[in-house]
Amino acid sequence: MFHTITDECIRCDACPRECPVGAIASGPRKYVIRDDACLDCGACVEVCPTDAIVSNARTRDEITDAWGQIEIQHIQAGG
Ligand code: SF4
Ligand code: SF4
Repeated sequence: MFHTITDECIRCDACPRECPVGAIASGPRKYVIRDDACLDCGACVEVCPTDAIVSNARTRDEITDAWGQIEIQHIQAGG
């Protein structure tokens, strides 16, 4: 949804260790982010040695809405 990995990826395996929701996996030629799982937290961006991870967020409302959804799920699960 919000972050994606470009062809600059050198498959160093750093980013999956940082992702809190396991949204990053090794693909055939580069690592990939599952659109339906990414929270747009930005943790993976910080560790990438080649700046291969970029934000696709289009509006701040989308980001706010994504975090809102997570908070709702957290509350529904009992806090
Ligand atoms: S932005 Fe956050 S949730 Fe999305 S892939 Fe990176 S570490 Fe995972
Ligand atoms: S941290 Fe960057 S270079 Fe390393 S696997 Fe992730 S996207 Fe690829």
